[in-house]
Amino acid sequence: MATKTILVVEDNDDTREILLYRLKNMGDYDVQLAANGKEALEFATKKRPDLIIMDLKMPVLDGWEATKIIRQSEWGKDLPVIALTAQAMERDEEKALNAGCNDYIAKPIMDYTILKKKVEKLLT
Ligand SMILES: [Mg+2]
Repeated sequence: MATKTILVVEDNDDTREILLYRLKNMGDYDVQLAANGKEALEFATKKRPDLIIMDLKMPVLDGWEATKIIRQSEWGKDLPVIALTAQAMERDEEKALNAGCNDYIAKPIMDYTILKKKVEKLLT
């Protein structure tokens, strides 16, 4: 099977690096990084990742707006997007699904097996 590309979009440097490390240990994934929604769109329009893990609160272009733009594009209308929500923000989850995200996981991520299951489910 061809290697799947996962794009991690997260403005926090530490969280981004941890996700890179964790995802690489989950399977044979090509993990790419972006620091905000604008960078994510630039990457995704050219490289077409198989899945995006998208932080919601980011500078320049946030995850809600970036996901809405992805959903309006021909290439991105069915692209799996998992939102990274803030645990304290209850409405984040609802807003993530309204923006078109397929699923979400709350930060800080305590149990990476849950993320692994969500990633594998959306990549099959
Ligand atoms: Mg953030």
